[in-house]
Amino acid sequence: MKKTNTFLVVALLLFCGSLAYFQAAKAWGFWAHSRINRLAVFTLPPEMIGFYKKNIEYVTEHAVDPDKRRYASEDEAPRHYIDVDHYGEYPFDMMPRKWEDAVAKYTEDTLQAFGIAPWNMEIVLKRLTKAFENCDEKRILRLSAEMGHYIGDGHVPLHTTENYNGQMTNQKGIHGFWESRLPELYGDNYDYWVGKAKYIANPSDYIWDFILESHVALDTVLLGEAELTKKFPSDQKYSYETRGQTTTKTYSEGFSKAYDNLLGDMVERRMKKAIISVGSFWTTAWINAGQPDLSCLNEAVELAEVDKEEEERLKKAKAEGKQKGRKHDNEGSNLSID
Ligand SMILES: [Zn+2]
Repeated sequence: MKKTNTFLVVALLLFCGSLAYFQAAKAWGFWAHSRINRLAVFTLPPEMIGFYKKNIEYVTEHAVDPDKRRYASEDEAPRHYIDVDHYGEYPFDMMPRKWEDAVAKYTEDTLQAFGIAPWNMEIVLKRLTKAFENCDEKRILRLSAEMGHYIGDGHVPLHTTENYNGQMTNQKGIHGFWESRLPELYGDNYDYWVGKAKYIANPSDYIWDFILESHVALDTVLLGEAELTKKFPSDQKYSYETRGQTTTKTYSEGFSKAYDNLLGDMVERRMKKAIISVGSFWTTAWINAGQPDLSCLNEAVELAEVDKEEEERLKKAKAEGKQKGRKHDNEGSNLSID
């Protein structure tokens, strides 16, 4: 009898442990995206904030849907990045900012191969504007969450380069290190005061500006890590973390702290800029739609009601398969070191 009880207790502990791991894994790499969408709500003008506050859980939880869609569709991955250094050097004047001109110069296949992030953001902005015009509650919510994701990605330096995971400079794993592990470790201490969202008169210029800002930070991101690696005792760069029954290799806290110090407030700065950009894009879509009265939508939409089918489809695709196209390493801060 005693044996059975012990067995039950152990089984229960293991079960809880793996549950905790599952939840942590689900939330971890996605921490920054969720936080950006959530905080963007508080930048909104009075006419919008009520509706978004009521649906704040939706835009928070669905901040990572576009990454899930990578499992379902091959077209998805290139929407999250642009390897702009493939085409030339900063400030990339050789790259036409207009989609049609860029296609004419480089062909659509090439653009798809090296990422279409800036143009995709413009498309989503137009779709969100249309959703506001139609007062289509579900689409407003879904597209707001997705807009937040794509804009968030555009503020990450490693989303603007061919060397997106340090794979060309023997720094594999740096993508998740910068965009997942650092904000997870230190993001609670950031100051998120960003002020109020603004109308963006020229979305294309605005998008290219933040992409170039991201790209300018890239040298510090990559060279800084390489310098630090040289100085850091090699047996202390990584550590092993156990969650539930899984042990994973990750950047040690000592190395993370030293790297974060070296970057100064870079991660915080990019997150803050992303928050105000997301709020400003939501606001711009609403203003371009003629500032519709959102009081018609002032009921919180049940999460389950919003695109239930789409959610099921994404869940199924993720359970079944591998990411299509370029792999994105933000699902955990420790997936891609080896
Ligand atoms: Zn992404």
